Formats: sequence, structure tokens, C-alpha cells
Amino acid sequence: MKVIDGVLGVEKVTPAEAQARFQVCFSCPHYNEAKRKCRICKCYLDVKTEQKFHREPTRLGAIERTHCWLAKWPGDNLKEVNAYRKLKGLTEIIN
Ligand code: SF4
Repeated sequence: MKVIDGVLGVEKVTPAEAQARFQVCFSCPHYNEAKRKCRICKCYLDVKTEQKFHREPTRLGAIERTHCWLAKWPGDNLKEVNAYRKLKGLTEIIN
């Protein structure tokens, strides 16, 4: 069931993890408070912060472990985020 949930993008992180992610967004200059969206990835953060995996629209729905594109969220792995960035044609980031 977990694998299917991951593929469908419905498997969620814990509420505490989602809250910790959103706390970072609240203080991020790229957070659009009016729309509750990220200006970098364009995602609705009420949804994105809860997701463990998702289908990435910029990569034809490829499955990704949900992360901040700038690797700012707790638990984000810089190496993995940079691998996803490379697949999107974005430059590597250094935190
Ligand atoms: S997802 Fe990352 S870049 Fe976007 S608002 Fe949150 S912390 Fe900032």
C-alpha cells in the first residue's frame, strides 16, 4: 500500500514535519503569502509541505521525493536536491 501511495502522491509526512517545513517557508523571501505558494517551484505549500512524494509537473510527472527546490526544508538532502535540479536543467545550489 505504501508504494502505491508514494506513486500516487498521497503518502504524507507527519504533521510535525509538514509544520516544520512550512515554518521555513513563512520566513523565506520566495514565499507568496497571499497565494500561499512558492515563487520558485510555483507549488501550493499547504499541499506540498504535507507530501512525501509527488509527481513533478516540470518533468512529465516523474516521481520525486518532495523537497524545497533550494534545499531549505529540514531533512532535505542537498545532493538529492541538486540531482533533481540537474534533471530540471537548473544550476546546482550550494547551501
Ligand atoms: S519551498 Fe523553499 S524556496 Fe519555496 S517558499 Fe518554501 S522555503 Fe522558500
